Amino acid sequence: MKADKRQNKPGKIFVICGPSGSGKTTLLTSLIQDKKIGKLLAKSRSLTTRPKRSGEKQGRDYFFVTAPEFRRLLKAKKILEWTRYLGYYYGTPREPLESQIKGGRNLGLCLDLKGARILKKIYPKNTVTVFVLPPSLNVLKARIENRCSKTNKKEVARRIRLARRELLAASGFDYCILNQNLQIALKELKDIFLQEIGA
Ligand code: 5GP
Repeated sequence: MKADKRQNKPGKIFVICGPSGSGKTTLLTSLIQDKKIGKLLAKSRSLTTRPKRSGEKQGRDYFFVTAPEFRRLLKAKKILEWTRYLGYYYGTPREPLESQIKGGRNLGLCLDLKGARILKKIYPKNTVTVFVLPPSLNVLKARIENRCSKTNKKEVARRIRLARRELLAASGFDYCILNQNLQIALKELKDIFLQEIGA
């Protein structure tokens, strides 16, 4: 009996990057909520040591862990790639990603620049990197201020400084999307995804 080639085809990794407030998480979440795409793409859930924001849920948005637990998992090689972002650890759990990709499942991840570079290096053939650009720095600033607690001015300033630096990296990505209008940006992301998986 001939082997079904489709069964052996590894899944693709869609890494969505962009500065804090660019709308990358909303875009990826909305993409997966699309009926057609939802059957073809799953979201990888990261570990983080940063505190939960209001509205975030354990296991849905992140696996929120303590710093000692994160370091234990890192030492045990259970984290595929990780970063320290504004003082907190973030990392991709190794086993779920490896097994899903091997099993032909496409995965979407929102990562920082370091994470995007590492995944592209580990999986050069099946990693697709997408950079989400905000319409302007002023819009970005307003979005970051709106998200961070009003009292946390220091974090707002740090995220804005980092965002300026991150914007300079956009040209190294496979695709760039301007997120001025969410529906238009979502349509672009959907087209990229369908084209890349050959649907
Ligand atoms: P936030 O605190 O806004 O949720 O995330 C901060 C930054 O960390 C964002 O750029 C986000 O995409 C990135 N990030 C989230 N999870 C991971 C991860 O597992 N690995 C890496 N490298 N970056 C991550």
